[in-house]
Amino acid sequence: MGTARAESSDLRLRMYHTHTGEHLDVVYKHGATYVRGALDQLDHFLRDHRTGDVHHYDPRVFDVLSDLLEAVGRPTAEINIICGYRTPWSNQFLRTHTSGVAQNSLHMQAEAIDIRIPGVDTARLRSTALNLKRGGVGYYPHSNFIHVDVGRVRWW
Ligand SMILES: [Zn+2]
Repeated sequence: MGTARAESSDLRLRMYHTHTGEHLDVVYKHGATYVRGALDQLDHFLRDHRTGDVHHYDPRVFDVLSDLLEAVGRPTAEINIICGYRTPWSNQFLRTHTSGVAQNSLHMQAEAIDIRIPGVDTARLRSTALNLKRGGVGYYPHSNFIHVDVGRVRWW
């Protein structure tokens, strides 16, 4: 399903970053080809919001987001971003001040993202992400978001 769609169309992502207050609306892929300028915009948008550092994102993360939106029937929804890239400093800061942050978090490789989708129940978002079997899925019901990454398929 996702493959047929990707071969014939432009893939667009809309995002709102809950920490910076910024919005982004980009076509990041034409057919099977990633759009370089759009990836640059996404990298900047998903920078470490504590330090301002930018890291090149693994674009497969954006494919997971796109397929996730499609799978929950909200292909044009604006994804709310809780956390994108994290420098090691920022990851350690979070580990000190909160629980449930991995020492070797894939946020530090720009291969992970924490999101919620307004109007989509977070438990349903989690089960839909698990069904995609594209990487790790974390569930944070008290903060109302999920983590998705393109590492090994696993869940917590
Ligand atoms: Zn995360």
